[in-house]
Amino acid sequence: MTTGVVVFTRDLRVHDHPALAAAIREHKSIVPLFVFDDAVARADFRPANRTAFMLESLADLDSSLQSRGATLIYRHGDWAEEVLALAEEVNASAIHLSEDVSGFSTRRITQLTERAKASEIRVQAHPGVMVISPGDVLPTGGDHFKVFTPYYRKWLALPWRTPIAAPKEILSVKRLDSLTIPKIEELSSGSLSPNRVNGGESIARRLFANWRESHLHEYESIHNDLPGNSTSHLAPYIHFGCLSPLELAASSLGRDGAEAWVRQLCWRDFYHQVLAARPDASWADFKHRGDHWIDDPAALQAWKEGRTGFPVVDAGMRQLLDEGFMHNRTRMIVASFLTKDLGIDWRHGARHFLEWLTDGDIANNNLNWQWTAGTGTDTNPNRIFNPTVQGQRFDPKGEYVRRYVKELASIPDGSLHTLGPLERAALGYPEPIVDHHEAIAEYRLRRA
Ligand SMILES: Cc1cc2nc3c(=O)[nH]c(=O)nc-3n(C[C@H](O)[C@H](O)[C@H](O)COP(=O)(O)OP(=O)(O)OC[C@H]3O[C@@H](n4cnc5c(N)ncnc54)[C@H](O)[C@@H]3O)c2cc1C
Repeated sequence: MTTGVVVFTRDLRVHDHPALAAAIREHKSIVPLFVFDDAVARADFRPANRTAFMLESLADLDSSLQSRGATLIYRHGDWAEEVLALAEEVNASAIHLSEDVSGFSTRRITQLTERAKASEIRVQAHPGVMVISPGDVLPTGGDHFKVFTPYYRKWLALPWRTPIAAPKEILSVKRLDSLTIPKIEELSSGSLSPNRVNGGESIARRLFANWRESHLHEYESIHNDLPGNSTSHLAPYIHFGCLSPLELAASSLGRDGAEAWVRQLCWRDFYHQVLAARPDASWADFKHRGDHWIDDPAALQAWKEGRTGFPVVDAGMRQLLDEGFMHNRTRMIVASFLTKDLGIDWRHGARHFLEWLTDGDIANNNLNWQWTAGTGTDTNPNRIFNPTVQGQRFDPKGEYVRRYVKELASIPDGSLHTLGPLERAALGYPEPIVDHHEAIAEYRLRRA
């Protein structure tokens, strides 16, 4: 029996962790490792909400490992170099990790695999980041599905692996050097959202259990209700792997109303299999449509700060800054507003979202942005959201808007969606920065 290294990436949990389970099965002792990648640290923006959430999740993972007899080794530097250095130091025969899909993560894994060959160390990638791996279902003659519904049908019909219980005990190599998990200030100088959520598998499991009991059964009817805001809010926990998406799906299906929610987890897998096949689609148009984007820094800034004069757009953008989260319905409304009413390139919006969303995820974020911008997988690329009508429909009494747009807090009803110039001036709330109908007529001309 040998030693195996388990490298945690965005699978920060001990339940249903195939890489951890395989390492425990195969090796006499294991070394759990997390390397904070210098390439991430060097990125020109370091999202504070996500970094803080990750550090909290690492601390929680470490305590779960400690209660089972192991300690998380924390290092930072060149990711492949650090992983290999530790594997050599402990004379490991294998490195186990979870497979991932972005160009960045697949390049890292390939680099590590190549370098490890010289030391005769096997690198083994396991499932765990998605419900099913890209490639487990393929369309006839293609390398990925471009349309959701046929993917969903196959995804549901596929036999899934059985979720794995958390290990009771972990035999690990003792007395290894580990850096202390740093404080957020050491990794990011960006602002934290005052009402962001905290990371960690322990919190995540409690949140899921409570939400499943109280809201899963009504998900289909309430998921678009802006004031209710009763979707699961689990996205950051799923992004960092504090929860296994497979375990979530498997432990929900069969319950009242679960299918509508599990379908959302399938959307996540869908975008992940698109990105696996088309890593360029993270920042390049999935389907280029010859768009001529408008350069308007003042409008972009008003959008970022929630000062567009469209109450539901401003509420969504302010929710993002306040919580590091935004309701899915408002994500679609504000993305449509930026790309269609303002004609601004979706990449500016995607970047701002990635800077603030605690659940910011390159596959889910950038491919949803493309869906809304009409350069992505949507079969209706010219789909338009009227921000006033959307506000009236999904926040008819104005409760969601009042929660985030303080200037409008004194307007007691849904009339806040259609205030006239005098009322706006009296409340100190801006005039709309565009006329929706004119802006959409121009958008149609540009697309034509
Ligand atoms: C412009 C735009 C940007 C987005 N950026 C992100 C992002 O960076 N990260 C992210 O996880 N989701 C993103 N989404 C998808 C969706 O808005 C969020 O997953 C959802 O709002 C998170 O809230 P929840 O956890 O309460 O979701 P629930 O409604 O409870 O859904 C459960 C889970 O399913 C997945 N999911 C739900 N909807 C989608 C979807 N449309 N596409 C892919 N997966 C989905 C998420 O993992 C989510 O946590 C984006 C959507 C849009 C329109």
